[in-house]
Amino acid sequence: MAAEYDVVVVGGGAAGLNAALVLGRARRRVAVVDGGAPRNAPAAHMRGFLSRDGMPPAALLAVGREEVAGYGVELLTGHVDAIVPGEPGFLVRLAGGALLRARRVLVATGARDELPGIPGLRERWGRDVLHCPYCHGYEMRDEPLGILGTHPGAVRHALLLRQWSHDVTFFAHTHDLTDEEREGLAGRGVRVAGGVVKRLVVEEDRLYGVELADGRVVPRRAVFVLPRTVPHDGPLTALGCERDDTGAVRTDATGRTSVPGVWAAGNVAHPRAQVVTAAGTSSAAAIALDHDLLREDVERAVERHRTVAGAA
Ligand SMILES: Cc1cc2nc3c(=O)[nH]c(=O)nc-3n(C[C@H](O)[C@H](O)[C@H](O)COP(=O)(O)OP(=O)(O)OC[C@H]3O[C@@H](n4cnc5c(N)ncnc54)[C@H](O)[C@@H]3O)c2cc1C
Repeated sequence: MAAEYDVVVVGGGAAGLNAALVLGRARRRVAVVDGGAPRNAPAAHMRGFLSRDGMPPAALLAVGREEVAGYGVELLTGHVDAIVPGEPGFLVRLAGGALLRARRVLVATGARDELPGIPGLRERWGRDVLHCPYCHGYEMRDEPLGILGTHPGAVRHALLLRQWSHDVTFFAHTHDLTDEEREGLAGRGVRVAGGVVKRLVVEEDRLYGVELADGRVVPRRAVFVLPRTVPHDGPLTALGCERDDTGAVRTDATGRTSVPGVWAAGNVAHPRAQVVTAAGTSSAAAIALDHDLLREDVERAVERHRTVAGAA
């Protein structure tokens, strides 16, 4: 028989754990199922979270797990491969076949980053191949930095990055710069290196520079690149959750999806959310979800009360 919960939280990153914290403290029966692969795992430090700035990402989650366990939340390691309507509620199926029954589900499965296929990028990801100046720009301030023209937003990213360093090179790669873009980069003091990028050059476990197809190597301390961020929203899509104009699963301000009883928070619904935002959206979702459960609890209690009163 399936174990029964008020809420099964799918994904135990910052978003999932913060929801579990709020729901555990609200004395709900909660399980968190987590695959153990948070998006920022390659980074040594997490930045920009007040009072947690500089903490290793894994340490944040270890503290979070300890906190939620203290409120009776069950932490399960595993991969959820399906969530199906269970009449009532939902059945959450883990790879391997285990089943959990839940009155509500909160999906906080995060997202993954697909990097351009330039040799060296994947190996240095989160170390000296970076995407977010707000996460890593300060630590790379005043260093020679590069931006790869692999994404339509790369020029804007270069203009932004100039805030952190006077020495920024835009590697055009496959991006055809317009006159306006060239002017913007020149005005902002960003150099342009034309030509296709062949690979990143790494020496002694540290980025040395960017090698172009013609053999030139431009020394750089770090390179910024915009990945394609792909939400892990398979379970939500399979349940029939609607998407918005950007392609993200549509949620209201409290994380409620278009499917009753299904909630989503963190990067799975907000791919640009930082850790503090992911945790914040999830905290709000947990409170709204608890009120949704309360509505049902009260309805059931009134029905029982009427039955008893009618029989008396
Ligand atoms: C290299 C890098 C560095 C970053 N640095 C920072 C930073 O310094 N500061 C900052 O604020 N943000 C940073 N971010 C962004 C940060 O990673 C996200 O904001 C944050 O991880 C979002 O939290 P989340 O809980 O939504 O998702 P995640 O942290 O990705 O957690 C999702 C969890 O769900 C699990 N999961 C997925 N699918 C399933 C499934 N089907 N069944 C069970 N479990 C599942 C995953 O294994 C994972 O553990 C960085 C991102 C990257 C890529």
